[in-house]
Amino acid sequence: TERIRLILGDQLNPSHSWYRSVDPGTLYLIAELKQEIGYVKHHIQKICAFFCAMAGFAKALKTAGHQVLHLTLDDTHAYESLPPLINDLLTFTGANGFEFQRPDEYRLKQQLETMQLPDGVSRTIWESEHFLLPFDELNHYFKADTAHRMETFYRKMRRRYELLMNGDEPEGGQWNYDANNREKLSQQEIEALPEPLCFANDVTDIKARLDKHKVEYFGSYHSALLWPVTRQQGLQLLDYFCQQLLPKFGRFQDAMTCQSETKWSLYHCRLSFAMNAKLLHPKQVIDAAITAYRQADGAITIAQVEGFVRQILGWREYVRGIYWLNMPQYAEKNALNGHRTLPKYFWDGETQMRCMRESLGQSLEYAYGHHIQRLMVIGNFALITGMDPDLVDAWYLGVYIDAIEWVEMPNTRGMSQFADGGLLASKPYAASGNYINKMSDYCANCHYQVKQKTGSKACPFNALYWHFMNEHRDRIARNPRIGMVYRNWDKMSDENRTAILSQAGTYLADLDSL
Ligand code: FAD
Ligand code: SF4
Repeated sequence: TERIRLILGDQLNPSHSWYRSVDPGTLYLIAELKQEIGYVKHHIQKICAFFCAMAGFAKALKTAGHQVLHLTLDDTHAYESLPPLINDLLTFTGANGFEFQRPDEYRLKQQLETMQLPDGVSRTIWESEHFLLPFDELNHYFKADTAHRMETFYRKMRRRYELLMNGDEPEGGQWNYDANNREKLSQQEIEALPEPLCFANDVTDIKARLDKHKVEYFGSYHSALLWPVTRQQGLQLLDYFCQQLLPKFGRFQDAMTCQSETKWSLYHCRLSFAMNAKLLHPKQVIDAAITAYRQADGAITIAQVEGFVRQILGWREYVRGIYWLNMPQYAEKNALNGHRTLPKYFWDGETQMRCMRESLGQSLEYAYGHHIQRLMVIGNFALITGMDPDLVDAWYLGVYIDAIEWVEMPNTRGMSQFADGGLLASKPYAASGNYINKMSDYCANCHYQVKQKTGSKACPFNALYWHFMNEHRDRIARNPRIGMVYRNWDKMSDENRTAILSQAGTYLADLDSL
Protein backbone atom coordinates (compact mmCIF):
# COMPACT_ATOMS: atom_id res chain seq x y z
CA THR A 1 0.00 0.00 0.00
CA GLU A 2 1.38 3.39 -0.99
CA ARG A 3 -1.29 5.60 0.48
CA ILE A 4 -4.27 5.46 2.80
CA ARG A 5 -7.24 7.58 1.89
CA LEU A 6 -9.68 8.23 4.71
CA ILE A 7 -13.39 8.50 3.87
CA LEU A 8 -15.43 10.15 6.62
CA GLY A 9 -19.06 9.17 7.24
CA ASP A 10 -20.34 12.35 5.61
CA GLN A 11 -18.09 12.00 2.56
CA LEU A 12 -19.89 9.25 0.70
CA ASN A 13 -19.70 10.92 -2.68
CA PRO A 14 -19.45 8.26 -5.39
CA SER A 15 -18.62 10.89 -8.05
CA HIS A 16 -15.52 12.16 -6.30
CA SER A 17 -12.47 12.29 -8.59
CA TRP A 18 -10.69 9.82 -6.27
CA TYR A 19 -12.73 6.99 -7.73
CA ARG A 20 -12.22 7.73 -11.42
CA SER A 21 -9.50 5.14 -11.70
CA VAL A 22 -8.60 2.05 -9.72
CA ASP A 23 -5.16 2.14 -8.13
CA PRO A 24 -3.97 -1.00 -6.31
CA GLY A 25 -1.56 1.14 -4.25
CA THR A 26 -4.43 3.08 -2.65
CA LEU A 27 -6.26 1.73 0.34
CA TYR A 28 -9.57 3.41 1.17
CA LEU A 29 -10.41 3.45 4.86
CA ILE A 30 -13.98 3.69 6.14
CA ALA A 31 -14.28 3.26 9.89
CA GLU A 32 -17.00 3.31 12.52
CA LEU A 33 -15.48 5.32 15.34
CA LYS A 34 -16.28 5.90 18.96
CA GLN A 35 -15.14 9.51 18.64
CA GLU A 36 -17.77 10.20 15.97
CA ILE A 37 -20.69 8.82 17.94
CA GLY A 38 -19.58 10.04 21.33
CA TYR A 39 -19.16 13.83 20.97
CA VAL A 40 -22.88 14.23 21.80
CA LYS A 41 -25.57 11.68 22.56
CA HIS A 42 -27.19 10.76 19.24
CA HIS A 43 -30.53 9.55 18.01
CA ILE A 44 -30.16 5.87 17.20
CA GLN A 45 -31.50 6.34 13.67
CA LYS A 46 -28.80 8.89 12.98
CA ILE A 47 -26.02 6.47 13.97
CA CYS A 48 -27.67 3.62 12.06
CA ALA A 49 -28.10 5.77 8.94
CA PHE A 50 -24.44 6.82 8.85
CA PHE A 51 -23.08 3.35 9.63
CA CYS A 52 -25.40 1.71 7.12
CA ALA A 53 -24.53 4.24 4.39
CA MET A 54 -20.80 3.76 5.13
CA ALA A 55 -21.10 -0.03 4.83
CA GLY A 56 -22.97 0.32 1.53
CA PHE A 57 -20.37 2.75 0.21
CA ALA A 58 -17.51 0.43 1.17
CA LYS A 59 -19.23 -2.43 -0.60
CA ALA A 60 -19.82 -0.36 -3.75
CA LEU A 61 -16.18 0.71 -3.88
CA LYS A 62 -15.01 -2.88 -3.49
CA THR A 63 -17.34 -4.00 -6.27
CA ALA A 64 -15.82 -1.29 -8.47
CA GLY A 65 -12.39 -2.84 -7.87
CA HIS A 66 -10.94 -0.48 -5.23
CA GLN A 67 -8.99 -1.67 -2.19
CA VAL A 68 -11.18 -0.94 0.81
CA LEU A 69 -10.79 -1.44 4.53
CA HIS A 70 -14.15 -1.14 6.24
CA LEU A 71 -13.74 -1.27 10.00
CA THR A 72 -16.67 -1.63 12.35
CA LEU A 73 -16.83 -0.82 16.06
CA ASP A 74 -15.78 -4.43 16.66
CA ASP A 75 -12.43 -3.54 15.08
CA THR A 76 -12.01 0.02 16.37
CA HIS A 77 -13.56 0.03 19.86
CA ALA A 78 -10.15 0.15 21.54
CA TYR A 79 -9.40 3.49 19.87
CA GLU A 80 -10.86 6.47 21.69
CA SER A 81 -9.91 8.76 18.82
CA LEU A 82 -8.92 8.68 15.17
CA PRO A 83 -5.18 9.65 15.17
CA PRO A 84 -3.82 6.50 16.84
CA LEU A 85 -5.89 4.32 14.53
CA ILE A 86 -4.53 6.11 11.45
CA ASN A 87 -0.99 5.90 12.78
CA ASP A 88 -1.28 2.19 13.48
CA LEU A 89 -2.66 1.54 10.01
CA LEU A 90 0.06 3.62 8.35
CA THR A 91 2.73 1.72 10.22
CA PHE A 92 1.13 -1.66 9.63
CA THR A 93 0.67 -1.16 5.88
CA GLY A 94 3.93 0.73 5.35
CA ALA A 95 2.05 3.41 3.42
CA ASN A 96 3.93 6.67 2.98
CA GLY A 97 0.96 8.90 2.16
CA PHE A 98 -2.11 9.86 4.17
CA GLU A 99 -4.86 11.58 2.22
CA PHE A 100 -8.27 12.93 3.14
CA GLN A 101 -10.97 15.22 1.84
CA ARG A 102 -11.27 18.47 3.78
CA PRO A 103 -13.76 17.80 6.59
CA ASP A 104 -16.80 20.07 6.78
CA GLU A 105 -16.62 20.17 10.53
CA TYR A 106 -14.10 22.41 12.31
CA ARG A 107 -13.26 19.82 14.98
CA LEU A 108 -12.34 17.15 12.45
CA LYS A 109 -10.55 19.53 10.12
CA GLN A 110 -8.29 20.64 12.97
CA GLN A 111 -7.70 17.09 14.06
CA LEU A 112 -6.74 15.76 10.64
CA GLU A 113 -4.67 18.76 9.64
CA THR A 114 -2.63 18.84 12.82
CA MET A 115 -2.31 15.21 13.88
CA GLN A 116 1.17 13.78 14.12
CA LEU A 117 1.99 11.22 11.40
CA PRO A 118 4.81 8.63 11.39
CA ASP A 119 8.12 9.95 10.04
CA GLY A 120 8.28 10.14 6.28
CA VAL A 121 4.50 10.02 5.74
CA SER A 122 3.10 12.86 3.63
CA ARG A 123 -0.32 14.42 4.16
CA THR A 124 -2.49 15.47 1.21
CA ILE A 125 -5.77 17.34 1.55
CA TRP A 126 -8.35 17.14 -1.21
CA GLU A 127 -11.50 19.10 -1.96
CA SER A 128 -14.68 17.25 -1.05
CA GLU A 129 -16.14 18.38 -4.42
CA HIS A 130 -19.57 18.75 -2.88
CA PHE A 131 -20.72 22.33 -2.42
CA LEU A 132 -21.45 24.81 -5.16
CA LEU A 133 -19.29 27.54 -3.67
CA PRO A 134 -15.60 26.52 -3.50
CA PHE A 135 -14.17 26.59 0.02
CA ASP A 136 -11.44 29.02 -0.98
CA GLU A 137 -13.99 31.53 -2.19
CA LEU A 138 -16.11 31.65 0.97
CA ASN A 139 -14.20 34.73 2.08
CA HIS A 140 -15.26 36.56 -1.10
CA TYR A 141 -18.82 36.40 0.22
CA PHE A 142 -18.47 36.31 4.00
CA LYS A 143 -16.47 38.20 6.61
CA ALA A 144 -15.82 37.11 10.17
CA ASP A 145 -17.90 38.72 12.89
CA THR A 146 -19.98 40.57 10.35
CA ALA A 147 -23.74 40.46 9.88
CA HIS A 148 -24.82 39.00 6.54
CA ARG A 149 -28.21 38.49 4.97
CA MET A 150 -29.23 35.33 3.17
CA GLU A 151 -31.24 37.13 0.49
CA THR A 152 -28.27 39.18 -0.75
CA PHE A 153 -26.08 36.10 -0.88
CA TYR A 154 -28.80 34.07 -2.61
CA ARG A 155 -29.20 36.57 -5.43
CA LYS A 156 -25.47 36.49 -6.07
CA MET A 157 -25.66 32.67 -6.23
CA ARG A 158 -28.60 32.74 -8.65
CA ARG A 159 -26.63 35.03 -10.94
CA ARG A 160 -23.36 33.15 -10.57
CA TYR A 161 -24.82 29.74 -11.33
CA GLU A 162 -27.47 31.10 -13.75
CA LEU A 163 -30.30 29.28 -12.02
CA LEU A 164 -33.89 30.38 -12.66
CA MET A 165 -32.62 33.47 -14.46
CA ASN A 166 -33.69 35.30 -17.61
CA GLY A 167 -30.44 37.00 -18.45
CA ASP A 168 -29.79 39.24 -15.48
CA GLU A 169 -33.40 39.14 -14.25
CA PRO A 170 -34.95 36.49 -12.02
CA GLU A 171 -37.32 34.18 -13.83
CA GLY A 172 -40.93 35.24 -13.24
CA GLY A 173 -39.84 38.75 -12.29
CA GLN A 174 -39.34 38.16 -8.56
CA TRP A 175 -36.33 36.85 -6.67
CA ASN A 176 -38.30 35.39 -3.84
CA TYR A 177 -41.86 34.08 -3.65
CA ASP A 178 -41.98 33.54 0.09
CA ALA A 179 -45.08 35.69 0.45
CA ASN A 180 -47.01 33.04 -1.60
CA ASN A 181 -45.67 30.29 0.60
CA ARG A 182 -47.41 30.62 3.93
CA GLU A 183 -50.56 28.57 3.66
CA LYS A 184 -52.06 26.50 6.44
CA LEU A 185 -53.34 23.00 5.54
CA SER A 186 -57.13 22.76 5.24
CA GLN A 187 -58.92 19.53 6.22
CA GLN A 188 -59.20 18.65 2.55
CA GLU A 189 -55.50 19.29 2.01
CA ILE A 190 -54.61 17.12 5.00
CA GLU A 191 -56.54 14.23 3.48
CA ALA A 192 -54.77 14.79 0.15
CA LEU A 193 -51.26 14.62 1.67
CA PRO A 194 -49.15 11.93 -0.03
CA GLU A 195 -47.62 9.11 2.00
CA PRO A 196 -43.88 9.59 2.52
CA LEU A 197 -41.63 7.29 0.49
CA CYS A 198 -39.79 5.24 3.12
CA PHE A 199 -37.08 2.64 2.64
CA ALA A 200 -36.54 -0.46 4.77
CA ASN A 201 -32.80 -0.84 5.30
CA ASP A 202 -31.99 -3.62 7.72
CA VAL A 203 -29.92 -2.19 10.58
CA THR A 204 -30.29 -4.95 13.15
CA ASP A 205 -26.57 -5.82 13.02
CA ILE A 206 -25.62 -2.19 13.62
CA LYS A 207 -27.97 -1.92 16.61
CA ALA A 208 -26.49 -5.13 18.04
CA ARG A 209 -23.01 -3.68 17.66
CA LEU A 210 -23.98 -0.43 19.38
CA ASP A 211 -25.40 -2.37 22.30
CA LYS A 212 -22.42 -4.69 22.47
CA HIS A 213 -20.09 -1.70 22.77
CA LYS A 214 -22.43 0.11 25.20
CA VAL A 215 -22.93 3.14 22.97
CA GLU A 216 -25.42 5.59 24.45
CA TYR A 217 -28.21 6.76 22.20
CA PHE A 218 -31.82 7.95 22.37
CA GLY A 219 -34.95 8.11 20.20
CA SER A 220 -37.03 5.37 18.57
CA TYR A 221 -35.29 2.47 16.95
CA HIS A 222 -36.69 1.06 13.69
CA SER A 223 -35.00 -2.14 12.55
CA ALA A 224 -36.09 -1.21 9.01
CA LEU A 225 -34.40 2.17 8.64
CA LEU A 226 -36.57 4.42 6.49
CA TRP A 227 -33.83 6.87 5.44
CA PRO A 228 -32.05 6.64 2.05
CA VAL A 229 -28.55 5.21 2.55
CA THR A 230 -27.31 4.82 -1.02
CA ARG A 231 -27.15 7.20 -3.95
CA GLN A 232 -29.70 5.03 -5.70
CA GLN A 233 -32.19 5.41 -2.83
CA GLY A 234 -31.43 9.12 -2.70
CA LEU A 235 -32.25 9.40 -6.40
CA GLN A 236 -35.49 7.49 -5.90
CA LEU A 237 -36.50 9.90 -3.15
CA LEU A 238 -35.49 12.86 -5.31
CA ASP A 239 -37.66 11.58 -8.14
CA TYR A 240 -40.58 11.01 -5.76
CA PHE A 241 -40.16 14.56 -4.46
CA CYS A 242 -40.14 16.09 -7.96
CA GLN A 243 -43.24 14.18 -9.05
CA GLN A 244 -45.37 14.08 -5.91
CA LEU A 245 -44.25 16.81 -3.53
CA LEU A 246 -42.73 19.70 -5.45
CA PRO A 247 -46.09 20.86 -6.88
CA LYS A 248 -47.13 21.95 -3.37
CA PHE A 249 -43.74 22.30 -1.69
CA GLY A 250 -43.68 26.08 -1.35
CA ARG A 251 -47.35 26.56 -0.54
CA PHE A 252 -47.26 24.35 2.54
CA GLN A 253 -43.62 24.73 3.45
CA ASP A 254 -44.42 26.33 6.80
CA ALA A 255 -47.58 24.36 7.63
CA MET A 256 -47.91 21.89 10.52
CA THR A 257 -50.62 19.39 11.43
CA CYS A 258 -51.20 16.83 14.15
CA GLN A 259 -53.91 15.03 12.20
CA SER A 260 -51.76 12.86 10.05
CA GLU A 261 -49.42 10.61 11.92
CA THR A 262 -48.29 8.64 8.89
CA LYS A 263 -47.72 11.64 6.61
CA TRP A 264 -45.33 13.36 8.95
CA SER A 265 -43.02 14.98 6.41
CA LEU A 266 -45.82 16.74 4.46
CA TYR A 267 -44.36 18.17 1.22
CA HIS A 268 -40.75 18.31 2.43
CA CYS A 269 -38.18 16.37 0.40
CA ARG A 270 -36.34 14.64 3.29
CA LEU A 271 -33.17 14.72 1.19
CA SER A 272 -31.05 16.48 3.81
CA PHE A 273 -29.38 13.29 5.03
CA ALA A 274 -28.61 12.13 1.48
CA MET A 275 -27.14 15.52 0.66
CA ASN A 276 -25.25 15.98 3.93
CA ALA A 277 -23.70 12.52 3.67
CA LYS A 278 -22.83 13.58 0.07
CA LEU A 279 -24.70 10.69 -1.52
CA LEU A 280 -26.37 13.36 -3.63
CA HIS A 281 -24.84 16.58 -4.90
CA PRO A 282 -26.85 19.75 -4.16
CA LYS A 283 -26.60 20.86 -7.81
CA GLN A 284 -28.00 17.53 -8.90
CA VAL A 285 -30.99 18.08 -6.60
CA ILE A 286 -31.52 21.65 -7.80
CA ASP A 287 -31.26 20.62 -11.47
CA ALA A 288 -33.77 17.79 -10.99
CA ALA A 289 -36.29 20.18 -9.43
CA ILE A 290 -35.86 22.77 -12.18
CA THR A 291 -36.20 20.09 -14.88
CA ALA A 292 -39.40 18.81 -13.25
CA TYR A 293 -40.73 22.38 -13.15
CA ARG A 294 -39.97 22.92 -16.85
CA GLN A 295 -41.56 19.64 -17.84
CA ALA A 296 -44.68 20.10 -15.72
CA ASP A 297 -46.53 22.31 -18.19
CA GLY A 298 -47.61 24.75 -15.53
CA ALA A 299 -48.58 22.13 -12.93
CA ILE A 300 -45.59 23.30 -10.87
CA THR A 301 -45.44 27.07 -10.41
CA ILE A 302 -42.33 29.21 -10.14
CA ALA A 303 -43.17 29.91 -6.47
CA GLN A 304 -42.79 26.19 -5.64
CA VAL A 305 -39.52 25.61 -7.42
CA GLU A 306 -37.97 28.94 -6.41
CA GLY A 307 -38.83 28.21 -2.77
CA PHE A 308 -37.04 24.87 -3.03
CA VAL A 309 -33.99 26.15 -4.91
CA ARG A 310 -33.61 28.95 -2.33
CA GLN A 311 -33.29 26.41 0.49
CA ILE A 312 -30.38 24.63 -1.16
CA LEU A 313 -28.64 27.26 -3.27
CA GLY A 314 -29.37 29.95 -0.69
CA TRP A 315 -29.74 28.74 2.89
CA ARG A 316 -27.58 25.64 2.74
CA GLU A 317 -24.59 27.39 1.17
CA TYR A 318 -25.18 30.52 3.29
CA VAL A 319 -25.01 28.79 6.68
CA ARG A 320 -21.80 27.07 5.59
CA GLY A 321 -20.19 30.46 4.90
CA ILE A 322 -21.29 31.84 8.26
CA TYR A 323 -19.91 28.72 9.96
CA TRP A 324 -16.44 28.74 8.42
CA LEU A 325 -15.79 32.44 8.65
CA ASN A 326 -16.73 32.49 12.34
CA MET A 327 -15.38 29.24 13.74
CA PRO A 328 -14.21 28.41 16.33
CA GLN A 329 -15.56 31.49 18.16
CA TYR A 330 -19.07 30.85 16.86
CA ALA A 331 -19.42 27.81 19.11
CA GLU A 332 -18.94 30.03 22.18
CA LYS A 333 -21.48 32.71 21.32
CA ASN A 334 -24.26 33.38 23.79
CA ALA A 335 -25.42 36.93 23.05
CA LEU A 336 -28.66 36.61 25.04
CA ASN A 337 -27.04 34.85 28.02
CA GLY A 338 -29.18 31.74 27.83
CA HIS A 339 -28.50 29.53 30.84
CA ARG A 340 -31.43 27.20 31.52
CA THR A 341 -31.32 23.43 31.06
CA LEU A 342 -33.62 21.57 28.69
CA PRO A 343 -36.79 20.17 30.28
CA LYS A 344 -37.17 16.43 30.28
CA TYR A 345 -39.75 16.42 27.46
CA PHE A 346 -36.92 17.12 25.03
CA TRP A 347 -36.00 13.47 25.65
CA ASP A 348 -39.42 11.86 25.91
CA GLY A 349 -41.93 14.26 24.29
CA GLU A 350 -44.17 14.12 27.37
CA THR A 351 -45.65 17.62 27.63
CA GLN A 352 -49.13 19.08 27.61
CA MET A 353 -48.11 21.69 25.03
CA ARG A 354 -49.47 20.04 21.91
CA CYS A 355 -47.15 21.84 19.51
CA MET A 356 -44.11 20.72 21.48
CA ARG A 357 -45.48 17.24 21.99
CA GLU A 358 -46.00 16.80 18.24
CA SER A 359 -42.71 18.38 17.17
CA LEU A 360 -40.56 16.71 19.82
CA GLY A 361 -42.47 13.43 19.46
CA GLN A 362 -41.89 13.38 15.71
CA SER A 363 -38.22 14.27 16.15
CA LEU A 364 -37.79 11.40 18.59
CA GLU A 365 -39.77 8.97 16.45
CA TYR A 366 -38.19 9.72 13.07
CA ALA A 367 -35.06 11.81 13.82
CA TYR A 368 -36.80 14.43 11.71
CA GLY A 369 -38.67 17.69 12.13
CA HIS A 370 -39.24 20.15 9.32
CA HIS A 371 -37.79 23.64 9.51
CA ILE A 372 -40.82 25.32 11.11
CA GLN A 373 -41.04 22.65 13.79
CA ARG A 374 -37.32 23.12 14.44
CA LEU A 375 -37.42 26.92 14.26
CA MET A 376 -40.82 28.18 15.35
CA VAL A 377 -41.88 25.51 17.83
CA ILE A 378 -38.90 23.83 19.52
CA GLY A 379 -36.29 26.53 18.80
CA ASN A 380 -38.72 29.30 19.64
CA PHE A 381 -39.53 27.63 22.96
CA ALA A 382 -35.82 27.29 23.80
CA LEU A 383 -35.24 30.91 22.82
CA ILE A 384 -38.05 32.48 24.84
CA THR A 385 -37.25 30.36 27.89
CA GLY A 386 -33.56 31.34 27.77
CA MET A 387 -32.00 27.90 27.31
CA ASP A 388 -28.24 27.49 27.32
CA PRO A 389 -27.22 27.46 23.61
CA ASP A 390 -24.58 24.77 24.28
CA LEU A 391 -27.32 22.43 25.44
CA VAL A 392 -29.65 23.42 22.63
CA ASP A 393 -26.89 22.81 20.08
CA ALA A 394 -26.06 19.44 21.60
CA TRP A 395 -29.71 18.37 21.44
CA TYR A 396 -30.15 19.43 17.80
CA LEU A 397 -26.82 17.87 16.85
CA GLY A 398 -27.89 14.62 18.45
CA VAL A 399 -31.49 14.30 17.40
CA TYR A 400 -31.73 15.09 13.70
CA ILE A 401 -30.77 12.66 10.97
CA ASP A 402 -29.14 15.48 8.99
CA ALA A 403 -27.32 17.17 11.87
CA ILE A 404 -23.70 17.89 11.09
CA GLU A 405 -22.14 20.82 12.87
CA TRP A 406 -21.49 23.08 9.85
CA VAL A 407 -25.21 23.20 9.11
CA GLU A 408 -26.69 22.50 12.55
CA MET A 409 -24.84 25.18 14.50
CA PRO A 410 -25.56 28.29 12.41
CA ASN A 411 -29.19 27.22 12.17
CA THR A 412 -29.55 26.50 15.87
CA ARG A 413 -27.22 28.85 17.70
CA GLY A 414 -27.57 31.56 15.05
CA MET A 415 -30.95 31.54 13.37
CA SER A 416 -33.03 29.98 16.11
CA GLN A 417 -31.32 31.10 19.34
CA PHE A 418 -29.94 34.47 18.13
CA ALA A 419 -26.90 33.63 20.25
CA ASP A 420 -24.63 35.09 17.55
CA GLY A 421 -26.25 38.48 18.14
CA GLY A 422 -27.50 38.73 14.55
CA LEU A 423 -24.61 37.59 12.34
CA LEU A 424 -26.95 35.26 10.50
CA ALA A 425 -30.49 36.58 11.03
CA SER A 426 -31.75 40.13 11.29
CA LYS A 427 -34.03 39.45 14.25
CA PRO A 428 -34.75 36.73 16.79
CA TYR A 429 -37.34 34.20 15.66
CA ALA A 430 -39.45 34.64 18.78
CA ALA A 431 -43.20 34.18 18.49
CA SER A 432 -46.26 33.81 20.69
CA GLY A 433 -48.90 31.09 20.38
CA ASN A 434 -50.61 33.15 17.70
CA TYR A 435 -47.98 32.25 15.07
CA ILE A 436 -48.21 28.53 15.86
CA ASN A 437 -52.00 28.75 15.67
CA LYS A 438 -51.82 30.48 12.30
CA MET A 439 -49.63 27.78 10.75
CA SER A 440 -51.02 24.62 12.38
CA ASP A 441 -53.96 22.81 13.94
CA TYR A 442 -51.97 22.10 17.12
CA CYS A 443 -53.70 24.71 19.27
CA ALA A 444 -57.22 23.41 18.62
CA ASN A 445 -56.07 20.12 20.17
CA CYS A 446 -54.10 21.49 23.11
CA HIS A 447 -54.56 21.47 26.87
CA TYR A 448 -53.71 25.19 26.84
CA GLN A 449 -55.74 28.08 25.42
CA VAL A 450 -53.89 29.92 22.70
CA LYS A 451 -55.86 33.14 23.14
CA GLN A 452 -55.06 33.43 26.85
CA LYS A 453 -51.98 35.17 28.19
CA THR A 454 -52.64 34.60 31.87
CA GLY A 455 -54.42 31.98 33.98
CA SER A 456 -53.77 28.30 34.59
CA LYS A 457 -54.71 27.31 31.02
CA ALA A 458 -52.89 30.18 29.31
CA CYS A 459 -50.70 29.13 26.37
CA PRO A 460 -47.14 29.21 27.77
CA PHE A 461 -45.79 30.67 24.52
CA ASN A 462 -47.73 33.91 25.13
CA ALA A 463 -46.40 34.97 28.51
CA LEU A 464 -42.95 33.57 27.75
CA TYR A 465 -42.81 35.53 24.50
CA TRP A 466 -43.59 38.83 26.22
CA HIS A 467 -41.18 38.03 29.01
CA PHE A 468 -38.44 37.44 26.44
CA MET A 469 -39.24 40.61 24.50
CA ASN A 470 -39.29 42.64 27.68
CA GLU A 471 -36.07 41.16 29.00
CA HIS A 472 -34.11 41.83 25.81
CA ARG A 473 -35.75 45.09 24.89
CA ASP A 474 -32.52 47.11 24.81
CA ARG A 475 -31.02 44.85 22.19
CA ILE A 476 -34.09 43.96 20.14
CA ALA A 477 -35.88 47.33 20.02
CA ARG A 478 -33.01 48.73 17.98
CA ASN A 479 -34.35 46.71 15.06
CA PRO A 480 -36.87 48.84 13.12
CA ARG A 481 -38.77 45.68 12.07
CA ILE A 482 -39.70 45.07 15.70
CA GLY A 483 -40.78 48.54 16.86
CA MET A 484 -44.46 47.70 16.41
CA VAL A 485 -44.25 44.87 18.94
CA TYR A 486 -43.03 47.21 21.66
CA ARG A 487 -45.71 49.75 20.82
CA ASN A 488 -48.28 47.03 21.54
CA TRP A 489 -46.54 46.10 24.78
CA ASP A 490 -46.43 49.73 25.88
CA LYS A 491 -50.13 50.14 25.11
CA MET A 492 -51.05 47.45 27.64
CA SER A 493 -51.97 48.53 31.15
CA ASP A 494 -49.37 48.21 33.90
CA GLU A 495 -51.58 45.65 35.56
CA ASN A 496 -51.73 43.55 32.42
CA ARG A 497 -48.01 43.66 31.86
CA THR A 498 -47.33 42.70 35.46
CA ALA A 499 -49.75 39.79 35.25
CA ILE A 500 -48.11 38.51 32.05
CA LEU A 501 -44.60 38.75 33.49
CA SER A 502 -45.71 37.05 36.66
CA GLN A 503 -47.34 34.25 34.63
CA ALA A 504 -44.06 33.83 32.73
CA GLY A 505 -42.19 33.71 36.03
CA THR A 506 -44.42 30.89 37.23
CA TYR A 507 -43.82 28.92 34.04
CA LEU A 508 -40.06 29.53 34.07
CA ALA A 509 -39.80 28.36 37.65
CA ASP A 510 -41.05 24.92 36.66
CA LEU A 511 -40.66 24.30 32.94
CA ASP A 512 -40.73 20.54 33.49
CA SER A 513 -44.37 20.72 34.53
CA LEU A 514 -45.66 22.28 31.28
P1 FAD B 1 -36.86 20.65 2.86
O1 FAD B 1 -37.73 21.48 3.71
O2 FAD B 1 -37.53 19.83 1.83
O3 FAD B 1 -35.78 21.63 2.18
C1 FAD B 1 -34.96 21.20 1.10
C2 FAD B 1 -33.50 21.23 1.44
O4 FAD B 1 -33.08 22.56 1.63
C3 FAD B 1 -33.06 20.50 2.69
O5 FAD B 1 -32.88 19.13 2.44
C4 FAD B 1 -31.78 21.20 3.05
O6 FAD B 1 -30.69 20.62 2.39
C5 FAD B 1 -31.98 22.60 2.53
N1 FAD B 1 -32.30 23.52 3.62
C6 FAD B 1 -33.51 24.02 3.94
N2 FAD B 1 -33.41 24.91 4.94
C7 FAD B 1 -32.11 24.96 5.28
C8 FAD B 1 -31.39 25.68 6.25
N3 FAD B 1 -31.97 26.54 7.07
N4 FAD B 1 -30.07 25.45 6.33
C9 FAD B 1 -29.45 24.60 5.50
N5 FAD B 1 -30.09 23.89 4.57
C10 FAD B 1 -31.40 24.08 4.44
N6 FAD B 1 -30.53 21.23 8.22
C11 FAD B 1 -29.59 20.27 8.15
O7 FAD B 1 -29.31 19.76 7.07
N7 FAD B 1 -28.94 19.86 9.27
C12 FAD B 1 -29.21 20.38 10.51
O8 FAD B 1 -28.61 19.97 11.48
C13 FAD B 1 -30.20 21.39 10.59
N8 FAD B 1 -30.52 21.94 11.79
C14 FAD B 1 -31.48 22.90 11.86
C15 FAD B 1 -31.77 23.48 13.08
C16 FAD B 1 -32.71 24.48 13.19
C17 FAD B 1 -33.00 25.13 14.50
C18 FAD B 1 -33.39 24.90 12.03
C19 FAD B 1 -34.41 25.99 12.09
C20 FAD B 1 -33.11 24.32 10.81
C21 FAD B 1 -32.16 23.33 10.70
N9 FAD B 1 -31.84 22.75 9.46
C22 FAD B 1 -30.87 21.79 9.40
C23 FAD B 1 -32.47 23.22 8.22
C24 FAD B 1 -33.76 22.48 7.82
O9 FAD B 1 -34.66 22.46 8.89
C25 FAD B 1 -33.48 21.07 7.33
O10 FAD B 1 -32.49 21.11 6.33
C26 FAD B 1 -34.72 20.44 6.74
O11 FAD B 1 -35.75 20.42 7.68
C27 FAD B 1 -34.40 19.03 6.26
O12 FAD B 1 -35.56 18.41 5.79
P2 FAD B 1 -35.87 18.27 4.25
O13 FAD B 1 -34.73 17.62 3.58
O14 FAD B 1 -37.21 17.61 4.14
O15 FAD B 1 -35.92 19.78 3.79
FE1 SF4 C 1 -48.60 25.30 21.58
FE2 SF4 C 1 -49.86 27.21 22.93
FE3 SF4 C 1 -50.94 26.25 20.74
FE4 SF4 C 1 -50.82 24.73 22.93
S1 SF4 C 1 -51.97 26.62 22.66
S2 SF4 C 1 -50.35 24.09 20.84
S3 SF4 C 1 -48.88 25.39 23.80
S4 SF4 C 1 -49.02 27.37 20.88
